[in-house]
Amino acid sequence: MTDAPDHAAAHRALPPVICYPTDTLPQPDMATYAAARDGMTKLSEVIAPPREAATFEVPAGHIFRISSIEGPQVGDLNLWNANDLSERFYSGKTRALHGTHVNTGDRLWSSFPTLRPMATIIHDTLGWYGIDDFGGGVHDVIGTRCDPYTGNLLQGGHYHHCCHSNLTRALADHAGLPLAEAEGHVHDVLNVFMCTGFTRDTGQYFMKASPVRPGDYIDFLAEIDLLGALSACPGGDCGSEHSSDVAPCHPLKIEVFAPAPGTLDGWQSPPPNGYDRSHGR
Ligand SMILES: [Zn+2]
Repeated sequence: MTDAPDHAAAHRALPPVICYPTDTLPQPDMATYAAARDGMTKLSEVIAPPREAATFEVPAGHIFRISSIEGPQVGDLNLWNANDLSERFYSGKTRALHGTHVNTGDRLWSSFPTLRPMATIIHDTLGWYGIDDFGGGVHDVIGTRCDPYTGNLLQGGHYHHCCHSNLTRALADHAGLPLAEAEGHVHDVLNVFMCTGFTRDTGQYFMKASPVRPGDYIDFLAEIDLLGALSACPGGDCGSEHSSDVAPCHPLKIEVFAPAPGTLDGWQSPPPNGYDRSHGR
């Protein structure tokens, strides 16, 4: 290992610079969204069974809720533009803009070239958790999704109910796609209710038991027409292990609501990103 140079201590002491200051980011009108949520009307619900995924559609300007029922459970969420599967949730950019975990008022951003809000978090019963002494928080955009490839790499074997496979099967069934084609649309997730962080000493991704309890929920305003898929992770509350049938696992409920009448009359679905895409040519 190279010896530390003379300027090592001075550099370690430099204060961090926020990569993407968000003061110029278009802000959601949370008062309007709160009004839309008050008096919203339920349209439908679907259950993601344990170690399986369910799909759901949410028209722009409608609300969807993910709820814990029966027992503590983590969910892995994928979102697509319902009219164009190539526009999908961009976990990495959402992390760069909002941090490792998302809370009320944060948005879920879409992939290039559209890069626009797909959904806005408008209520979260786990907002009290904050950041714990280990650096852990809930609803992360740092994990990817549990998957059978990493499982094969680390433990061998062929486990078929990781979130990656659950999401793949659910999308294939919903869109009438072959599994291999559907798999290509599955992407890094929002880890709903999952409690995670990076260890301070080794920088490793960690998980711990989610504080979620039956009755807890998180509400989103769909900014564009959405197709969603939610997997009830085989890790259950993700307090011990995932990628196996060992952990107790519970269903998750997804509900779709129409906003309170008239509350979103002046609201508009965000247009695609304004960059001209000439890339300097
Ligand atoms: Zn999972």
